[in-house]
Amino acid sequence: MNTRDDNFKLIITGIVQGVGFRPFVYRIANQLGLRGQVFNDKSGVIIELTVDEQSLNKFVDLIRTEKPAPSAIDKIKIVKGNRIFADGFRIIESRESGELAMFISPDLATCEQCKNEILDVRQRRFGYPFTNCTNCGPRFTIIESLPYDRPNTSMKKFVMCADCRKEYEDPHDRRFHAQPIACPVCGPKLSVLDSTGREIDIMDPIEFTVNAILDGKIVALKGIGGYQLACDATSENAVIKLRQRKQRPHKPFALMFKDINNVRKYCYLTRAEEELLLSSASPIVLLRSKQNKEISDMVAPNNRYHGVMIPYTPLHELIFAKISRPLVMTSGNISEEPIAFDNKEALSRLGSIADCFLTNDRPIISRYDDSVVFALGDDVYVSRRARGYAPYPVKLNRNFKQILACGSQYKNSFCLTRQDNAYLSQHIGDLDTLETYENYVSTIETYKRIFNIKPEICAYDLHPDYTSSKYGLSNDIRLKFAVQHHIAHISSVIAEHDLYGESIIGVALDGTGYGSDGNVWGGEVFLVDKMKFTRLGGYRNVRLPGGDAGIERPYRMAISYLYDTFKENFTTTNLYNLYVKDSLVEDELNVILGQIRTGFNSPYTSSCGRLFDGVSSILGQRQICTYEGQAAIELESLSESDEHDVLPYEIDCHNGLIEIDCRPMFCEIENLLNLNTGANKIAKMFHNTIVVQVIDVCLRVMKSTGVKKVALGGGVMQNRLILRGLLDGLRASGFEGYVCRYAPLSDGGISLGQAAYAQSLLEG
Ligand code: ZN
Ligand code: ZN
Ligand code: FE
Repeated sequence: MNTRDDNFKLIITGIVQGVGFRPFVYRIANQLGLRGQVFNDKSGVIIELTVDEQSLNKFVDLIRTEKPAPSAIDKIKIVKGNRIFADGFRIIESRESGELAMFISPDLATCEQCKNEILDVRQRRFGYPFTNCTNCGPRFTIIESLPYDRPNTSMKKFVMCADCRKEYEDPHDRRFHAQPIACPVCGPKLSVLDSTGREIDIMDPIEFTVNAILDGKIVALKGIGGYQLACDATSENAVIKLRQRKQRPHKPFALMFKDINNVRKYCYLTRAEEELLLSSASPIVLLRSKQNKEISDMVAPNNRYHGVMIPYTPLHELIFAKISRPLVMTSGNISEEPIAFDNKEALSRLGSIADCFLTNDRPIISRYDDSVVFALGDDVYVSRRARGYAPYPVKLNRNFKQILACGSQYKNSFCLTRQDNAYLSQHIGDLDTLETYENYVSTIETYKRIFNIKPEICAYDLHPDYTSSKYGLSNDIRLKFAVQHHIAHISSVIAEHDLYGESIIGVALDGTGYGSDGNVWGGEVFLVDKMKFTRLGGYRNVRLPGGDAGIERPYRMAISYLYDTFKENFTTTNLYNLYVKDSLVEDELNVILGQIRTGFNSPYTSSCGRLFDGVSSILGQRQICTYEGQAAIELESLSESDEHDVLPYEIDCHNGLIEIDCRPMFCEIENLLNLNTGANKIAKMFHNTIVVQVIDVCLRVMKSTGVKKVALGGGVMQNRLILRGLLDGLRASGFEGYVCRYAPLSDGGISLGQAAYAQSLLEG
């Protein structure tokens, strides 16, 4: 042993198992001529070395910078070792010691090497749709329990053949300990079923499927986390048929393109967006459409964006080897039910939608939708967090108690915490149906089991009618906290950015959330001091006529805003007469006015989302919504104009609360309509106005408090014009703006904040 040499032990935690980490360590250790060994234990990867300090530092640097693409290092802990190594570097047997790992890899898109292999006739996996390696393939969707070894996955029923076993056991092979390893001899197999579930006897299931798609048929494909429904995106008839059968009139369908070059033909693509598409998470990325006429308008009606992905499984690759046109690729469900993942279940639920099924005999353990993300410049934001991201934890920057946060009613995700990790679940969906609720409860149990969490505290939304709140109240966790919806939105931002100890302004622009005064909140401003929330005010209250009916029918909100602005005279305005009037049925106006005057089934609301609805209706864009947020999403797409002007508004103070008053805005829109100003210009001015209002309020708060940090939350942040406008505008006014980057901006992100707020209540 060299006099300068010493013994060290490196404990690496994070996603370091099942991602080719040990062969990688072996390679760089040999490159540097190091002496020692590497192995897995329950906590992660352990490296023992006899080395001088300089080489050790170089080694650790290389681990950090060159680590395998699908891995994620949480911590590298270096302690004194107790073994001396005289020569060489080895990979040795895994050990059962160590604290149970807290990380499991999400599912990974097919890697370049596997892709080339399945397209090469000389390879034994040519054309094999279940090819994978340590760099790619299914992970969380096939895991039953930990440790992540083949007997604990849905691959246990497939016995490895001699060739696969050789690869599996060879530390130099890229399939060394690849748990889902498979080949045509020993692995899962495809089959094709007709819509009644009868097997169709054919030679080449993939060719059959491709021909069916080219023939205008709808095919259900068994993917990684569930079934997908595919059809030809260039066939108007096929897309319309899919919409009818899926009972989804307008909500955009995602598209899958053959490759990046194909994406570029149909959509604008920045460097950041390209990286996202090519990443191992391989999400759906929202891209601006080039309005290429080949793609049916029915794919994303009234929307300038397409949700785009590229093939992320070998099955997708093999289909696109035979077809080059874009395909609709959407979750295998009816409307908002959970995605079908079990073969029998798929047949009963999708039999009325799909003309045929391309299925296989590898069971899916966890149900996963595709993730949806978008980029502003280099920054990535999440709309739906599922395959490829969950269950990688969000870092909490401090140790939490074990908390179960139940999440929201819509776009639900739940969150479980342990130490400094928040296990934010994959997208569960709207908890309106029994199927979704059952999936919600069973996924909570799965997470508790896999991550060894026994929650002592339960956090749930203040809304008494949310299914998730009822679950929160009825489970057997003793200590429970109700968390107001918008406090949760802002707390998510605080948790992600480690702002617990700071003074910040919290702005939640949202659809609806149950307020602590019983009103429907949704455009709220808070002053937060070390997690103590004071509500400073928000948008002026108006009635939400008919409650849920007012949310589904934007013209009802339009009338509410017009009544607030013009009282009984509103029926003489263009605002009313151009479009709103025609949307009403029979005696509906009197019903709505009755509701507004008396408040019957019509709570007050300060919702910003409803303001978008009202303006959308007035501009003749959307009178009845068939999916959540439709009016606002379409209004954003309509706002394609360089207009910088802002509409008038007022900020008042009532009973010590700030009130953003939009009545002057509606008066000005009336003037603009009288001047025949285009709807796209007015829509853009409306967006500008929201941005300026928020910055104006923040400046007033800063003046009296000196607070310069602003946390932005709520579903409206998914609107790019608003999000970009606010971040740029706040910076220009001397603020630091913060938004969630890991948790979804939708209600899918509130469970993280519920947990963070509950933790702060515990700490007092
Ligand atoms: Zn691979
Ligand atoms: Zn095999
Ligand atoms: Fe919300």
